[in-house]
Amino acid sequence: MRRVHILVQGIVQGVGFRPFVYGLAKKFGLCGWVLNDEQGVQIEVEGKEGAIEGFLSGLKTPPPLAMIEEVKTEYFPPVGYRDFEIRESERGAERFALISPDIATCKDCLRELFDPQDRRYRYPFINCTNCGPRFTIIRDIPYDRDKTTMAPFRMCEPCSREYHDPLNRRFHAQPNACPACGPQVRLLKEDGTELPCHDPVREAVRLLREGRILAVKGLGGFHLACDARNEEAVSRLRRKKYREDKPFALMCRDLEVAGRLCYLDGTAAELLQSKERPIVILPKKEDVAPSVAPYHRTLGLMLPYTPLHHLLFSDGLDVLVMTSGNLSDEPIAYKDEDALRRLQGIAEYFLMHNREIHIRCDDSVLKPFRGGATFFRRSRGYVPYPIKLRKRGRSVLGCGAELKNTFCLTKGDYAFMSHHIGDLENFETLTSFEEGIEHFKRLFQIEPEVVVHDLHPDYLSTRYALGLELPKFGIQHHFAHALSCMAEHGLEGPVLAVVMDGTGYGEDGTVWGGEFLEVSLEGYRRLGHLRQVPLPGGDRAVKEPWRMATVYLQQVFRSPKEVKIPFISWLGPRRWRLIREMVREGINSPLTSSTGRFFDAVSALLGIRQEVNYEGQAAIELEQVAAEGEGGEYPFDIEEREGRLIFDPLPTILQIVEEIRKGEDPPLVAARFHNTLARATVEMLSRMREATDLSEVVLSGGCFQNHLLLGRVYHLLEEGDFRVWIHRKVPPNDGGIALGQALYGIARG
Ligand code: ZN
Ligand code: ZN
Ligand code: FE
Repeated sequence: MRRVHILVQGIVQGVGFRPFVYGLAKKFGLCGWVLNDEQGVQIEVEGKEGAIEGFLSGLKTPPPLAMIEEVKTEYFPPVGYRDFEIRESERGAERFALISPDIATCKDCLRELFDPQDRRYRYPFINCTNCGPRFTIIRDIPYDRDKTTMAPFRMCEPCSREYHDPLNRRFHAQPNACPACGPQVRLLKEDGTELPCHDPVREAVRLLREGRILAVKGLGGFHLACDARNEEAVSRLRRKKYREDKPFALMCRDLEVAGRLCYLDGTAAELLQSKERPIVILPKKEDVAPSVAPYHRTLGLMLPYTPLHHLLFSDGLDVLVMTSGNLSDEPIAYKDEDALRRLQGIAEYFLMHNREIHIRCDDSVLKPFRGGATFFRRSRGYVPYPIKLRKRGRSVLGCGAELKNTFCLTKGDYAFMSHHIGDLENFETLTSFEEGIEHFKRLFQIEPEVVVHDLHPDYLSTRYALGLELPKFGIQHHFAHALSCMAEHGLEGPVLAVVMDGTGYGEDGTVWGGEFLEVSLEGYRRLGHLRQVPLPGGDRAVKEPWRMATVYLQQVFRSPKEVKIPFISWLGPRRWRLIREMVREGINSPLTSSTGRFFDAVSALLGIRQEVNYEGQAAIELEQVAAEGEGGEYPFDIEEREGRLIFDPLPTILQIVEEIRKGEDPPLVAARFHNTLARATVEMLSRMREATDLSEVVLSGGCFQNHLLLGRVYHLLEEGDFRVWIHRKVPPNDGGIALGQALYGIARG
């Protein structure tokens, strides 16, 4: 006989962990107890050696929402427990607890949802300890019902019995509810008045099938939904939402439907069915309505993740557009009145309910890569689960960047990355940023001691940081990108880093974005970069890729007459002169080494995209058209200048113009362009390896969302015996930058 004391840490509270332990102890005939305290779950069991071993190995498969970080055991002589009991939580318990993300409806709940005999038959808010809303309904800690948006609903007798029964799946399930006592759905007309009907969900489905656009209240905000097979409805939604080309996400009834629309492999199927239920970007097999994802050969798919979603598909629909409920550029609506106000004129009906959303949380977006995935956006389903750092230190607030903002707060070795805040360009997003920080501070009991911000003086996140009365550090944008990737993997450097993205404020006041760095936690050296060219018009050049195409052409050709490609007739002599004048006079034309702008230039030259209506469109469409399996490459130069290596792509531009003149197929040119960029990157790195003796490389920056580029660079680096590190836990784009800032704060602290 032995007695063992076990401490389990991680997400172990409010996720059915104690009943799970109870069941496990009973199974192995062990006596003792289990309780929650501020450290986690404390367990004592005593019994035979073999039974204890069985119990310990059983702990390794906890309930679905639990995330075990650490299990500590200590052995003692037995004291003669007679039974196994769940003890009351100790006072002060759960003062600091990890909080579960929102989790998709589990199989058990689904079975009940569609069982006519069940008391929750077709009840849109069914949930249990293994599934349902968490992060988005929690107002404050400790995580108890009265601190959630479920507080106004008093549990009925049967619900309350489930809630108090340790052997019930709904033991301490804070959002537990049923049709008798819980939230209800309502269907409203465009003007906000109720549409009288017997079954609002069935009526909503009927309207969707008729081609109507509905605002549907979800877990972290409103979606705008319509039948994805109805081209008229989808294009009407585009017009009303002022969203010209940016792809819409789709929700499929089940995996089978997803498999009809896209090519799925094991990884894709796993991601789609995961409890986080992200949007997964996959190669398109069959077209739905053409307006769903114009100029794309991929679709963003997800499976239903709330009971309400499942009900929407129970009457014949198999695929819906489910796009965030906002006008383009605004944050997603999540409060009822706000949704009614802002979505009026887009949505024709509103499927609402009276369970409040406390915090906005957009859908997460992932794309499979080499047996795993990379994030485009990390939000619902993943947030607020922390990222474990290799280093601990003072609590840091990383304020993030401007676009796709997220912030990061650290405590010990936990980094809490926020949900997707959005582009910090308007008052509403800024408010959401500030409120988000306060909310995280409260939830995780963090009082930051250091704040870290981008060097860009005009970022609203920088201004916010500068207004705080705390010690602060500014950190260069691309250095933060690299550190973010290092934080994920516990790297301390020095390593080589390639950071390719659109825009980042450089130490020398120019715009960086094609950077080769040597990075350690304390600092970095800029070993090389993409050749600088003028950015004529600053932000306008970002929205009008033809400007970059013209700039690159003017680096190589003196007169437009020499160029002789269709782009030139599109451009006309006036715009050619305009750009030349701006550059010559230095009017609003800072120098840039941005890779994103280089992509823009090539996209415009090929006639793919001269003006964009969403961020990164020209580059994305260039990737989308690139021929698969093409291995050709173009020439480029690498020069040494003032101790730095400069990747000079002018020979590439010259060759591209040549090929366009010959009438070469744009998909082939696009592919060869990608190959060239990858080849040059690896060539640059090889030279840097010689100089520094470093062979570990981290890849970061928004351009690595381009999997054609990422895959190619990865492959060539492996071939060249480099050790490659890519983002797996946060996005390579600016949505991941706060993590790097946080790590820097810890290192400097
Ligand atoms: Zn469930
Ligand atoms: Zn009830
Ligand atoms: Fe960036």
